[in-house]
Amino acid sequence: MTLLQVDNLRVRYDTPRGPLWAVDQLSFKLESGEMVALVGESGSGKSTTALAILGLVPYSGGTVETGEIWYGGRNLLALDEREFRKLRASEIALVFQDASAALNPFLTIGLQLAEVLEVHRGLSRREALKESARALGDVGIPDPESRLHAYPHELSGGQRQRALIAMSLVAKPKVLIADEPTTALDPAVALAVLDLLKREREERGAGVVLVSHDLELVHATANRVHVMYAGRVIEQADAHELFERPWHPYTAALWRARARIGGERQHRLAAVPGAPAELTALPPGCAFHPRCELATDRCRRERPDLSGLRRAETGVSLSSGRRAACFEKERVAGAHAEAFDA
Ligand code: SF4
Repeated sequence: MTLLQVDNLRVRYDTPRGPLWAVDQLSFKLESGEMVALVGESGSGKSTTALAILGLVPYSGGTVETGEIWYGGRNLLALDEREFRKLRASEIALVFQDASAALNPFLTIGLQLAEVLEVHRGLSRREALKESARALGDVGIPDPESRLHAYPHELSGGQRQRALIAMSLVAKPKVLIADEPTTALDPAVALAVLDLLKREREERGAGVVLVSHDLELVHATANRVHVMYAGRVIEQADAHELFERPWHPYTAALWRARARIGGERQHRLAAVPGAPAELTALPPGCAFHPRCELATDRCRRERPDLSGLRRAETGVSLSSGRRAACFEKERVAGAHAEAFDA
């Protein structure tokens, strides 16, 4: 069952240097029980997409120019703020990146959790506090009853992040937007959080939109991946296919870069050669061409659309419905495949 469908989304910001489109012609679906990942460098549009799904673009100074976001038979972009507020937390919840900024420093963790349950599930204060302790235990916070009385500054960074995740899950939302959910966590806690997200998907059929720089995390947990560059999806595929055999030079560069730095595993997206495209001054043609070793004259003139392969290459499956926006994707998928497999 499709939980969420984004169609042709376009988000504009007006800046002193002129307008920029942080998200341009974005479309994707999220099915029940599925995790869809949005991947890309800073400025690629993935976090703006998360804001749009939550109806928060106007608060960030942007405008949704075109597009529709369908959830439960309703176009979210046509809702007013009162209707959207009802949906946030109860049906579509955000797992924030920065727990320190998202938690209220003047309220105990217990009261902040209980408030969500009182408002969205109609529980009494007593029931809500009991359920809150259970939720803190679920995210691995030790001695949860006593931690209900703690203020955010009395918890460690990892515990604050877990408390925030508990707050996102406690109303049992159908769609979770997880924006770099494990960035502040040590590996053991990150694994526990990922287990929790997996349980939400498997037991309740919740869908997760994962926004992440962590390619290992995406590879290990997501079902489908949309790679974004300069506000557009430039490649989309099942997670295991995408990283085992990219079709787009940018995806290939991201994947190679993460394993190369100092001989140690490096999961971030910092090492793709060249600087990300300036959204206020996109180059003509393919926005990636100034950084692309395979760029041709055509790439400098024309912008490629998302499409499948034109012909089969040795060992390349054509059956998955995957697509990439590159004039040379046959070369990348075929002739360069061994290099990416290494
Ligand atoms: S269209 Fe051309 S410039 Fe763009 S990624 Fe493909 S080969 Fe490189």
